Order: sequence, then structure tokens, then C-alpha cells
Amino acid sequence: MPHRKRIPYSIIGIGIVVACALMGVCVLQLIQSRADALDRARETSRNVGLLAERDIERNIELYDLSLQAAIHNLQLPNVMSAPPAVRRAILFDHAMTADYLGAMLIFDEHGNIVLDSSNDVSRKGNFADRRYFTIHRENPNVGLYISDPYVSRLRGGALSIALSRRISKPDGSFGGIAVVALNLDYFHKLFGGIDLGQRGAISLIGSNGVMVMRQPYDPKIIGRNISKAATFQRFQTAREGTFSETASIDGVRRIYYFKHFTKLPLIIMVAEAEDEIYAAWRDRALIIGGLVFAFGIAFIVLTLMLAAQLRRRIRAEYELELLARTDGLTGLSNRRRFAELLESEWRRARRARSSLSLLFIDIDRFKSYNDTYGHQAGDDALAAVARCIADNVRRPGDTAARYGGEEFILLLPDTPEAGARQIAEKIRTAIIRLLIEHVGSELGHVTVSIGLASWTPDKAGDTEAIIKEADEALYYAKATGRNKTVSFHDIAAASTPSEPVAVT
Ligand code: GH3
Ligand code: MG
Ligand code: MG
Repeated sequence: MPHRKRIPYSIIGIGIVVACALMGVCVLQLIQSRADALDRARETSRNVGLLAERDIERNIELYDLSLQAAIHNLQLPNVMSAPPAVRRAILFDHAMTADYLGAMLIFDEHGNIVLDSSNDVSRKGNFADRRYFTIHRENPNVGLYISDPYVSRLRGGALSIALSRRISKPDGSFGGIAVVALNLDYFHKLFGGIDLGQRGAISLIGSNGVMVMRQPYDPKIIGRNISKAATFQRFQTAREGTFSETASIDGVRRIYYFKHFTKLPLIIMVAEAEDEIYAAWRDRALIIGGLVFAFGIAFIVLTLMLAAQLRRRIRAEYELELLARTDGLTGLSNRRRFAELLESEWRRARRARSSLSLLFIDIDRFKSYNDTYGHQAGDDALAAVARCIADNVRRPGDTAARYGGEEFILLLPDTPEAGARQIAEKIRTAIIRLLIEHVGSELGHVTVSIGLASWTPDKAGDTEAIIKEADEALYYAKATGRNKTVSFHDIAAASTPSEPVAVT
């Protein structure tokens, strides 16, 4: 039975392992696709950043070339004495008419406008206070300067940045600047069409930390210095990179991509909110994960049901087998089972060279009992005698069986004749002591006669021979007065000289 009990448990084990393996594979797959979503978002941010950088750098480079051309052409002889229209044509190319670009102005060393690309007659104004002017006065080696955003005085308060270059006199001293203003609308339009989700952002920031443009657009943010912010600090760690951080302003966790421009003192930053990056993944994960989990649980439940069914079956089979082995009335082994046991015990005794005894027990005058007390009472008496026999066998190897009708047989492995005789007598007296009334018997109570046969290693013969000897001994007991135990050995010993000996 034990090995059969293990079958349902191994089925449950296999079922759970298979279900867990399936769920595990699904979890791994979902983790992988989450990482893929993050990679894709990073890639997108990077591409957006790179394209914005290229567009901005190329435009500013063109405007710078115009500045350099104007400064170069200023050195030409007679330029200043040429008629204003000719002078403008020489100094300022058509790039100056581009969208978002203000007029190019030439300032003298005091910050006064001396030339204006949009008018033959220069507008009046002094800009000596502007940083894009003073920086060139203080330092001859600035090259192209890109200013922080400011409110333009000449163009009705438009938010702009200035691109300026120094003009040096022939002796190298400061001779003023050439400057062109770039309207921030250019950046606004450039970033305007980019979709980075509800809480994504793209920003252009000066290397000094001053915000030039941000999408979503908020005029209040333009010109703000964010150099102290934690995110900006992280931009300083590399030329280009990605990181995630929770913004202190709105508590939203974002993936940031940043890149320092290759040629200009600007930083482009692209940020996407993590929950938006994972939104599509999360929906998918919930559906797939939920389904796989449900299937896994269903699979385990099915396995448990199958195992329970199997256990019931095995139990039923076991009970059937038990039924096939036992006698219904007495609960003792039946004759078939007994034959199997006798065979195996006999083989074992032969191998181990040990002895083996057999008792044939038959109720005396049982036919008359049935006739006197009825068949039902006969059955009850049979059951009582069987119980009494079973109660008097103690060793695990001993087997009592109903051989047929009112005959019982008792197999006593490892028991020589003397021991078997003791057990037989114990049973015989125990049955007398049951005091089952039987008027038709010699004693007035139910009694049994017992035939005993013992097998010892020196004997030849098989199991049938042992049964036959026990049967003969029983027959002898019946013939010589009943309610007694007779050993086949006694008959064999007695048959030669005179009278057989019977033990009472
Ligand atoms: P003896 O002392 O010589 O053994 O006499 P006996 O009457 O016991 O002999 P016999 O073997 O001829 O009779 C056996 C009787 O046992 C026959 C039948 O009436 C009775 N018997 C056999 N099986 C059952 C049973 O299952 N239930 C009942 N109630 N009686 C049975
Ligand atoms: Mg009998
Ligand atoms: Mg009989």
C-alpha cells in the first residue's frame, strides 16, 4: 500500500511544479518586456535629443557665420563711406531675414548701435549694460557668446537670446560687437510638436543652468536658474547620459536623458514619466499575468482533484483486494489468501531452515448445532470461535484463516511442534471457556478438535503434504472422541506399535 499512496502525492507535486514553472516563465517574460519598454523609451528620448541638438546647432552655426562675415567685411576699405544700402548689402547676407531672427546690429565700443541690418538709418540705443556686450569688452577670447534669455527692448518685449561676437580694432583693442537676437519662439516651435506624454518634458538649458526653453511651455520658467537643482547636478557628471529620478516639485518619477551640445554651451534634456513609459506594459502585464495565474491555479486545482479521485480509487481497489482476501463472516483470511501465505512461508522456512506448524481446527458436531439452534445462531457461533482463534494468535507472522464451513486453519511460521501444541491447547481451552451452549455435543458446550502438523527442514514434501498431515491428525482427533488436539507425529509414532496417543 505505501508505494501506491505516494502516486497521488507525486501527481500533486508534478502538477504544482509544472504550474509554477509556467507562471515563472510568464513572470520572466513580463520582466523582460518591462525592460524592453524602458529601453525603447530611452532610445526615443535620445533620438529626440539628438535631432533637437542638430537642428539648433546647425541654425546657430549659420547665424554665427553671418556674424563672422559681417565682422570680416567691416575691415574692408571704404565700407563705412559707401552708401547705406550698398553697405548693408555688403555686410549682411540674406540669412538675416530668417524667421525668429531679429536684425543684426553692430555696436561701437561704448555700446551704441552704429549699424543695423534692417534699416539704412540705425535705430538709436545704448546696450552697454547687456552681458552679451560687456563679456566681449572684458575678454577678447570669448568667440561666439550665447546670452541668457532676456526681454528684447527693440522688438516689443519678445523673449530672445543674443548671439554676439567681438569686433577688434586693428591694434587688438575692443571695437564693439556684432550681435543678432534669436527669438525663443524658434525653440518653442521646435519642441512644440514633440509628444512626450502627459508628464514628459524637453528642455534646453544653458551650461550655466539658466533655462532657455521648456516644453510644456511656461513663460515663468524661462530664464530661471536651475543650477542648484539635483537633476542639473547630475547633468554635470557626464557629457551624455540617462538616469531616473523623482522630481521634488511634482513627485513624479522620470527617466531623464541629457546631452551637452558638442559645439555650444547648451544642454538638451528629455524626460519621460516612468508610469507613462510602463502604462501599455502594465495593461498587458495585468491581462497576461492574470490569465496565466488563473490558469496556473486552475491547473493546480485540477491536479488536486485528480489526485483526490486517484486516492479514492486506490482505496477502493485496496478494499476490494482486502475483500477478496478475507472471509466475510469471520473477518479472517480466506482459503485462497491462506494458500498464498502458506506457500511463501513454507519457502521462507525452507530457505531459513526453520520449522513451520499448521493447525486444522474443526468445530465438533456443528451440523447438530445448526439443527438445534438454527443457521443464524450457527453463524454467530462460527464468528465467536473465529474471534477466539484470532485473539489467541499473537505473533505478526501467524495467520488464521477460514478454510471452509466450520473449519479453520492456523499457520504458525518459525514454530516447532511443541510450541504449536501449546497454542493449539490454548485455543481449544479458550473455546470451551466461551461456554456456548451446545446440547448435542459431548461436553454440552461448543468444542473444537485440532489436528496439528509440523514441517522441519529435514522433511521432504510440499505444502499440500503438510495440509494433508494436519487433516489426517484432525480426522484422528474426531475419530478418537473429539475436543482434543492430535499431532500427526503422534499418529505416525503410534501406528507402528499399538494404539495412537492423543493429548486431551
Ligand atoms: P464433526 O464433529 O464430525 O465435525 O461433526 P459436524 O457436524 O461438525 O460435521 P460436518 O463437517 O459434517 O458438518 C459441518 C456442518 O457445519 C455442516 C453445516 O451445517 C455447518 N456449516 C458449515 N458452514 C456453515 C456456515 O457458514 N454457517 C452455519 N451456520 N453452518 C455451517
Ligand atoms: Mg465439524
Ligand atoms: Mg467439518
